[in-house]
Amino acid sequence: METDTTALHGSVRHPATLLSAYQRGMAILEAAGVANSRNEAFWLLESGLGISRLMVYSDPQGRIEPEEWTRTESLFRRRALREPLQYIVGTQAFRGRDFLVNPNVLIPRPETELLIEEVLASRFSTVRCHMVDVGTGSGCLAVSLALDCPGATVSATDCSAPALRVARGNAQRHGVLRRIRFFRGECLEPLSGRTFAGTISAIVSNPPYIPADQCDLLPPEVRAFEPRPALDGGLNGLEFYDRLLAESPSLLHPGGILVMEMGMNQSEDICRKVSDKKEFVVKTIRRDQAGIDRMICLERTS
Ligand code: GLN
Repeated sequence: METDTTALHGSVRHPATLLSAYQRGMAILEAAGVANSRNEAFWLLESGLGISRLMVYSDPQGRIEPEEWTRTESLFRRRALREPLQYIVGTQAFRGRDFLVNPNVLIPRPETELLIEEVLASRFSTVRCHMVDVGTGSGCLAVSLALDCPGATVSATDCSAPALRVARGNAQRHGVLRRIRFFRGECLEPLSGRTFAGTISAIVSNPPYIPADQCDLLPPEVRAFEPRPALDGGLNGLEFYDRLLAESPSLLHPGGILVMEMGMNQSEDICRKVSDKKEFVVKTIRRDQAGIDRMICLERTS
């Protein structure tokens, strides 16, 4: 690769070609200690200039206007301050589909896909039924259920109005806005009362499960930018599981399932809570790629 090609614009030297812009951006990320700077520089360049990274190879000397660089450089500066790449470029893929994200919602994680796989492996994936996503955030779970379970009507709850706006945007983007009802409220509260009692086949949730006293130890990208209520699971990170276990039995019909994501070392504690309550039996526990028990599926007893 060639060295930096710069142009004089007023008194500010800016990279004048695609290649030099790429190199300058990567240098900003490297100086800030961003680990995956080679790839991230491509993503940020693509987002800032509206080009494909292939153009850096096919047309390295392609010109860049000063204002294009100013816009792109601001993205690199944000990343250098540890803002997650996904908030800067505005999307994250989940099950191969792009979801809009902003700092009002948790960035979807690949291990959360296990929850959808579990529902798809159940008999509810192909029949007419009602499914619920608790704490929908970006809506990645609710939208995936609507798309991949064609007979399902989905309800999605979240206590954050700005998060629900993101989720609605994603439902619209993926053409399932009419299949999902959105409710603002804590946990399953918006669905309590008689209307839905005993009618739900599957409840999924990726609850906040980081122990409160560990939130400040998270990487800066997470700690300083992702919404704290989406992460902080209170004492031992287990408080939201108590709510889910208390509020879901009256909503699920017998044989219905409660599918939850779990944090590191929480599997045993959660199983103990389940066996104390008798309304559920543990059906499946699945590990993520790192070998951590990550997903638990409970079945409502009759
Ligand atoms: N359901 C969303 C997700 O899985 C948000 C979860 C949350 O905010 N804890 O990404």
